[in-house]
Order: sequence, then C-alpha cells, then structure tokens
Amino acid sequence: MSGTAGTDPTGNGPVIALDHVTRVYEVGDSEVRALDDVSLRIGRGEFVAVMGPSGSGKSTLLNVLGCLDTPTSGSYRLDGEAVEALGEDRLAAVRQRKVSFIFQTFHLVPRMTASRNVELPMIFAGIEPDERRRRVEEALKSVGLGHRLHHRPDQMSGGERQRVAIARAIVMRPSILLADEPTGNLDTKSGQEIVDLLKAFNVQGLNVVLVTHDPGVGGQANRIVRMRDGKVESDGPSPGAATKGGPVGGSASTGGAGESRHPDSGDARNTRGEGPPEGDPT
Ligand code: ADP
Ligand code: MG
Repeated sequence: MSGTAGTDPTGNGPVIALDHVTRVYEVGDSEVRALDDVSLRIGRGEFVAVMGPSGSGKSTLLNVLGCLDTPTSGSYRLDGEAVEALGEDRLAAVRQRKVSFIFQTFHLVPRMTASRNVELPMIFAGIEPDERRRRVEEALKSVGLGHRLHHRPDQMSGGERQRVAIARAIVMRPSILLADEPTGNLDTKSGQEIVDLLKAFNVQGLNVVLVTHDPGVGGQANRIVRMRDGKVESDGPSPGAATKGGPVGGSASTGGAGESRHPDSGDARNTRGEGPPEGDPT
C-alpha cells in the first residue's frame, strides 16, 4: 500500500485514497455517522472484500467510492484526482467512465433484453450504434451469455441476471467495479460463478471492491476490510489470498475490462442505465 498523496501523473499511485472520510446523515435531530474517519488505500489490481455487520457503513463506503455520495468531510482521491474538487461535468464523466456498480438485486430494466440493458450506459455515453452492438456482444459473451442476447431478465435465472449486470458494468471499461452483496440473492453455485467472473476480470486488471456477508466469498478476495460502526475495524490479506485463482469456467475469456478505454469523453448527466442504489438494507 502506498501512502503517497497528491496527483498521480504516473498512474503508479493508489487507485483509491480515502483520508479521514466522514459521512454524516442528519436524521431528525440526530446524526448517524455512517462513515467515521475512514482512511483507506486501494492499489491497482486489488480485489478487496468489505465485510461487517448490517449498518456498519459498507454501502455508504461503496457509494462514496463510486462518487454516488459525497463525504461530509475528508478527502477522496480517485486515480489521483481529488473528487471533492471536481465540477459537475467531470464528476459525471468519472461516474460514467471510471466506476461501475453491481447490486444484490441486479437493477436491470425488466422490459429490456439483456442486450439492451448492456447497451444503455453506452447510449448515455454517446457511443455509436455499430460500436455499441459490437461491445454488447463482446460483454455478454465475456460473462458466458452469448446465447442470451435477446432474453429479458424475467426469462433468466438470478445468476444469469447478475451476469447481465456484470456485462453492463464492464461494457464502459471502468477501472473499478463496486459490488454490493452481488451474491446475496443467489444460491451457492450461481454465487460462486459470479465470484469467479469477478476474479477473472480482476486478473485482467479490473479493480474490484466487493461487499459481502459471506466469509466464503470474502475469503476469495486478496484483502478484507472489516467495518464496524462506520470505522475500519481491521484491514489485511484474506486467508484465501495465497490460493486466489484465475478464471474459472472459461466464461470470461474476452472481457472488456482489460482493454483500452474508448477515446471519446461524454458529458452526459445521467450516466447510468439506472438510478443510484436504493438504501439496501443489508
Ligand atoms: P451497511 O451497508 O453496512 O449495512 P449502510 O452504509 O447502509 O450500512 O448504513 C450505515 C449507517 O448509515 C446505518 O446506520 C444506516 O442506517 C445509516 N444510513 C445509511 N443511509 C442513510 C440515509 N440515506 N439516511 C440516513 N441514514 C442512513
Ligand atoms: Mg449495505
């Protein structure tokens, strides 16, 4: 872990640098310190699991990392850029290009096919139809769903839906994937397929920060950050880090995660095919 601060022209510094970050919610007359003086560095290529009891601040942390929420105080540098200093347009671009989310409940648009769901963020980003079509297919193939392009979410299993959500998340070639309990609604086998995919994309260079209750899932990350009462309670290598494997199941061979970024830079305000995460009760 690097302790260096400041901008990062070399690309060698941490991807994520939180310093003394606090997020306070005002509820009536009282305050909830959802994040309480959190300092955290996440380096390139890490796969970090965030664990801890309900209400300990895990989702708030993820939302801050994804620039969906803003710290009340403290600083957040993403790829060396101070997020609190970004203007609206730049922030929208960062949300669109650098970070992606997947959620426990998938957040797919129900009436749209898998292809269309995956295409949405590229439409918002102003990417041309031909390229969109090519990347949709590539992304869905990379999660093993090349044969489900025209199925709607209600025609798919939970595991398949989450794989569509992963395809949608990686199609913009973000540097960070933020996953909030992505296996929470899945049986063990489908959940493991999701973790295997995340590991495969991680091996290709995608940074992954994953919130989970499941020690079997968290143990497959390189590192576990434990939260309690809005604070980082512990932070260290996961027990399974040494045995961390590569792609499993052969379904993540052509992931877009490791490819070069699309050159154009859009300023679309609505940067996602969905709203921000609802307060997920986990
Ligand atoms: P976790 O994901 O670990 O369950 P959260 O980050 O969702 O925890 O919540 C941390 C704390 O912040 C909890 O006490 C929760 O009730 C509170 N909290 C989260 N979101 C809000 C909100 N929008 N308004 C008020 N309090 C909130
Ligand atoms: Mg949560």
